[in-house]
Amino acid sequence: MRKFFLSLILVISFTSFAFAKSELNQEDRAYFPAVIMYHDIRTEPLNYFDVLVNDFCAQLDWLKANDYETLSLEDFAAYIRNNKPFPEKSVLITFDDGYNGIYNYAFPELKKRDMKATFFITASVIDKLEGKYPHVTTQELQEIASDKNFSIGSHTMTHSNLMKMTHEEKIYELRESKRILEHITGREVLAMAYPEGNYDKAVIESVKESGYEIAFAVQDRGLLDERACYSIPRIYAGMELIQDNHALFKEYVKNYKSMPPEAFKERWQPIKQY
Ligand SMILES: [Zn+2]
Repeated sequence: MRKFFLSLILVISFTSFAFAKSELNQEDRAYFPAVIMYHDIRTEPLNYFDVLVNDFCAQLDWLKANDYETLSLEDFAAYIRNNKPFPEKSVLITFDDGYNGIYNYAFPELKKRDMKATFFITASVIDKLEGKYPHVTTQELQEIASDKNFSIGSHTMTHSNLMKMTHEEKIYELRESKRILEHITGREVLAMAYPEGNYDKAVIESVKESGYEIAFAVQDRGLLDERACYSIPRIYAGMELIQDNHALFKEYVKNYKSMPPEAFKERWQPIKQY
């Protein structure tokens, strides 16, 4: 009997904790417009996070047809800095890692439609062209960054788990990547994205200390900083979201503010499922 009550108490406290946490997240997230996360844009998919050029174009066209305004990273940061409400139908389009599909396909297709985007680049892989996932070159990054509709953010130096690092290691990953990317682009790097979405309070402190104004996550891990601008979850725009004429993509963009935290799961399914 005693055991039963103990487990009952545990269940109740867990449920109320989970409920309070998700309420807090949603309320806080309601301030932000939908943030979309892509990785590579390709003509042939190799991985769960690849999006085919045609599907990517269909998503951009849907955003346009439904009157979504794309924000630049600078626009996005300014709304937060000035404590202003975002336009009701706005989105931030982001890309992680720095694969060369962002230069070959994403950049021209966005440009054609006069849409804005942000690219989070892992500094140590710039100019690495070998393998199935060649990366962007220094010159390509310079060309992208010369257009004010496009911004470059940091995805650290080595794409390692920041949560497992000492304070010094974290600071090196964050400051050195910022310095390199600012040197290449000639522009300030305002934001970073956590490799594989790994962050905690100590990581956030290092990000702040390294001079970043905002930081992007993947999963919704709850409110770990005062204004949540260092823990912004993103919609994982992998292959799962293109099924049924992009049904999930559309739903997530429309309902970003009210989605439960579970919706921001990592989508690491193997390619054969698709
Ligand atoms: Zn990444």
